[in-house]
Amino acid sequence: MNRRSISVVIIFVIFVSLSSCTIDNKAIKPLSKDGFMLGTFVVINLYDQKDEKIIDEVFERLREIENRMSVNIEDSDISLVNKNAGIKPVKVHQDVYYVLKKAKYYSEISGGAFEPTIGPLVNLWGIGTGNERVPSEEEIRKSLIKVDFNKLHLLGNNEVFLDEKDMMIDLGGIAKGYAADEAKKILLDRGVKSAIIDLGGNIYALGSKPDGTPWRLGIQNPMISRSRNKVSHIGIFDGKNISVVTSGDYERYFEENGIRYHHIIDSKTGFPARNNVAGISVLSQDSIDGDALSTALFVLGLDEGLKLAEKIDGVDVIYITKDMKIYISSNLRGKFEITNEEFEMMTP
Ligand code: FAD
Ligand code: MG
Repeated sequence: MNRRSISVVIIFVIFVSLSSCTIDNKAIKPLSKDGFMLGTFVVINLYDQKDEKIIDEVFERLREIENRMSVNIEDSDISLVNKNAGIKPVKVHQDVYYVLKKAKYYSEISGGAFEPTIGPLVNLWGIGTGNERVPSEEEIRKSLIKVDFNKLHLLGNNEVFLDEKDMMIDLGGIAKGYAADEAKKILLDRGVKSAIIDLGGNIYALGSKPDGTPWRLGIQNPMISRSRNKVSHIGIFDGKNISVVTSGDYERYFEENGIRYHHIIDSKTGFPARNNVAGISVLSQDSIDGDALSTALFVLGLDEGLKLAEKIDGVDVIYITKDMKIYISSNLRGKFEITNEEFEMMTP
C-alpha cells in the first residue's frame, strides 16, 4: 500500500485540565491506543473504561472500513468499482453504499464542490505521494472530463456504476468521517461515556470529560506550518458528543515557484481550490457530514460556504482566512472564544 506522510492532527483537544481530571476524586489517565490507518494517525482515548478489547474492536472496524474504501487497496470495493468503470456495475458492501449516498448528496447540495469522482485529478497531481508535480493544461483538461458525480450511479441492490472508463471514485474527503461515526457506535454500545476519537483531523468528542463537564476543544492555528512549528490554537469552545472536522491547505501540499498546491481540488478548474481560506472546521453530530462539508466548504470559499452552512441544521462552522480573520456561523456566536490575539473575529 502506498503510505503517504502522516498528516498532522488538525484540531486537538485541550487536555490541560483533563490530566488532573478526576472521577470519585481519583486522578484518571485515558486508556489509549494509536496506529496508522486510513492514511493517517489514529488515536482512541477512553476515559471511563479500562477494557483494551473495546479499543481493539474499534481498530478492527476501522481496518474493515479502510479495506472496503481505500483506493490504495487493490481489491477494495472502491477499487473494484473504479476498475469496472464504463464496463459493468459492481455490488459493494452496505458501508460503501451508505458513504457513496452521502457523498452524492453533498455533491448535489454543494454544486459539485464536494466531488467523489475527483480520483483522476487526485492521481494527476499526486499530492502527498512524493511524485507531486504541476500537470500541463492538456493533462488537466483530459482528467476533468472524467470527473462528474452525475456519472456515478447508485443502483438498486447496492450496485455502483461509473459511466466512463478511467473515472475514479476517491472517498478521501468523507470516509474518515464515516469511520469516526462507526468508532463512536462501538464505544456507545460498550457503555463508554467519555472518549476522544481522533482520526487525523476528524475528532469526535464522545460524552463529556469524566467529571461530567464539557470537553474543551481547540482549533489549531492554520499558520502553524509557516511559523516555526509552534503548536498553538486560535480559539476554543466547549462541547459534548460532538464531531469537529477540519480541512486546510497547510498539511498536504507542495510548493513550486512560490505557489502552494494542496490536496483539495476544485472540480471546476482541476486545480487545488484557490481562495482566501486557510482552514475550515465543521462542528456536527455525525462526523460523515462534517467531513464531506469541510471539504466542500473549503472549495466553496468563505462567502458561498457560510451561506450553505447556515442553511444546514445542526452544523456550525469556523472559517479561518489567510489574513488571520475568523468567521463563525451564527449559532456559534458567544460560544467560540479566541485565544490568539493575532486573529480577529469578524461578523459576516
Ligand atoms: P479532506 O478535506 O477531508 O479531504 C481531502 C481529500 O479528499 C483529498 O486528499 C482527496 O483524496 C479528496 N478530495 C480532493 N478534492 C476533493 C473534492 N473537491 N471533493 C471531494 N473529495 C476531494 N492516504 C495515504 O497517504 N495513504 C493511504 O494509504 C491512504 N489510505 C486511505 C484510505 C481511506 C479509506 C481513506 C478515507 C483515506 C486514505 N488516505 C490515505 C487519505 C488520508 O487519510 C486523508 O483522507 C486525506 O489525506 C485527506 O483528508 P483530510 O482530512 O486532510 O482532507
Ligand atoms: Mg473532508
